[in-house]
Amino acid sequence: MSVTITVTCRHCGSENLKRFGRAPNGKQKYWCHDCGRQSRDDPAPNGYAPERREEILRAYEERSSLRGLERTFGVSRGTVVSWIKKK
Ligand SMILES: [Zn+2]
Repeated sequence: MSVTITVTCRHCGSENLKRFGRAPNGKQKYWCHDCGRQSRDDPAPNGYAPERREEILRAYEERSSLRGLERTFGVSRGTVVSWIKKK
């Protein structure tokens, strides 16, 4: 049984997505072949959902690279720094 992926990349609009595990809240995550970024099936319309912020902060704690976070999540390092300061 095959499952058709109907989501599109919220960064570049590509449909060339690959399943990429699940978020802690159970939502399916996808990885975009075209731009290399991650999407999920119902992204927050604007800003960052609390669970996404947690995900990014966790990645920061694991890898400590703001440049890597920018590349992976498309979040500016200034935004991440402001979250870290609030913690
Ligand atoms: Zn993309």
